[in-house]
Amino acid sequence: MENIAYWIHKRALITPVRVAVISKSSQSTYQELSRKINEMAAALRHTYFLEKGDRVAILSQNREEYVVAYFAIAQLGLVAVPLNIRLTTSELAFQIKDSGAKTIIYEEETESLFQEICHHTDFESAYQFDRVERDYSNKPLLVEEIDVKNDPFIICYTSGTTGRPKGAVLTQENMFWNAINNQYAIEITSSDKSIVLLPLFHIGGIGLFAFPTLLAGGTIVIPGKFDPGNAIRAIEDYQVTIVMGVPAIHDAIRRNSLFETANFDSVRWFYNGGAPCPKELINAYLDQGLPFGQGFGMTETSPTIFMLSKEDYKRKVGSIGKPVLFCDISIVDDKGEAVEQGEIGELLIKGPNIMKEYWGLPEETKETIRDGWLYSGDLVRQDNEGFIYVAGRKKDMIISGGENIYPLEVEQVIKELPGINEVAVIGVEDDKWGEVPIAFVSLNEGSVHEAEIKRFALTKLGKYKVPKRIIIMDELPKNATGKINKKDLFSKGVN
Ligand code: ATP
Repeated sequence: MENIAYWIHKRALITPVRVAVISKSSQSTYQELSRKINEMAAALRHTYFLEKGDRVAILSQNREEYVVAYFAIAQLGLVAVPLNIRLTTSELAFQIKDSGAKTIIYEEETESLFQEICHHTDFESAYQFDRVERDYSNKPLLVEEIDVKNDPFIICYTSGTTGRPKGAVLTQENMFWNAINNQYAIEITSSDKSIVLLPLFHIGGIGLFAFPTLLAGGTIVIPGKFDPGNAIRAIEDYQVTIVMGVPAIHDAIRRNSLFETANFDSVRWFYNGGAPCPKELINAYLDQGLPFGQGFGMTETSPTIFMLSKEDYKRKVGSIGKPVLFCDISIVDDKGEAVEQGEIGELLIKGPNIMKEYWGLPEETKETIRDGWLYSGDLVRQDNEGFIYVAGRKKDMIISGGENIYPLEVEQVIKELPGINEVAVIGVEDDKWGEVPIAFVSLNEGSVHEAEIKRFALTKLGKYKVPKRIIIMDELPKNATGKINKKDLFSKGVN
């Protein structure tokens, strides 16, 4: 494999007329996708004079050209810096500066954001997806020699839910192994049609399952900006077989008025990942007879680590499954020693899918990857059949009077109370206990009072785990991937 664009160019020879991408405005066969990749690569080389190793930032919503850009960048040995369009201009400027991006690719819809960014940072050139470039169809492309194992391919900034975003450097080989791991885990074939609902600026959109589906010779459907009604219609119209989402996406789909009567016969998998999925949401799909599985991943692991298989998704509700084929795990205590089965410990990961490094952060890289093991900062436990359950994040763990409290456990209990929409539990300083838990809650409908929530929690949890205060909000703050942003809650908790 010279580079991952080879997947598409080879498919263009094997199955030229098979549909590769369906988007709002266009449909491309593998032959057409291959031509578009070559044309964009030619433009990046001959108009923008980009050389191997140059960083190219992308500021765009989901669209076919985004996928084309990834493969054109791969073909030239450039480095993609996908930008989260929901960040502020100063946050975006930070990522552009930090990565040293030379060129920014943007689109009509992100033009005003792009103009604002221009006031905050410098770069050499900009490329607009919607402006027609010169015709490069006859210009031969220089084939770059790329070390797919070591050369950076994507600098993907993590969501930053636990601190300043760090640029995870992923290689083309990382992408390849993630695609292979997902293909084996859920048996993706050329008959599959995966819908891309997660943003392509996030590793979830790329790795679950756009790239794996294209490697398998299947079709990806890109409906554009997420809207639950449009997503349901696209699933029906294009006979989608795999629907990947985070809890916020699956929740929006099941609450949509089209959900109950929609024809989901073509779907062989709804998959959730990225954040803990409430059992009630899983059951809402299972009760309709829909296959709903769990996966678990991180930006730093390209992303997939765990998947729940078709044999187990009904009987192991709440588990994230077992590690995928080419990825090993270990669960360790604070001393780095393996914990007993059933005990909670930190998840470590080893495999060809783990990132090369954090961009420009050698100390953080050394801290995160030790002896080839990636220290995830996530706490998990394993049952007696080897299934893994998430207990929370190490940084979120609360120690109250010497007892460990896992916020996720408390959140899951409160979520069971009817009328509760979202819950986030954090620890705040306390003179007597060191730390105590408090909860932030948003409601679905009707009114649920603080005392009622505490009473309910007391029936299911030890007293020290019951939040000392419940703060009711209209909506909890979230980041671009729909995860609750606990960082924002800390300032509210101290008042
Ligand atoms: P940052 O690392 O900057 O704080 P982040 O961890 O949210 O941001 P991502 O790479 O987007 O960055 O998310 C990975 C994390 O998401 C995992 O480490 C884990 O905590 C959580 N996660 C992913 N999938 C699941 C899941 N199925 N259930 C529970 N948590 C999950």
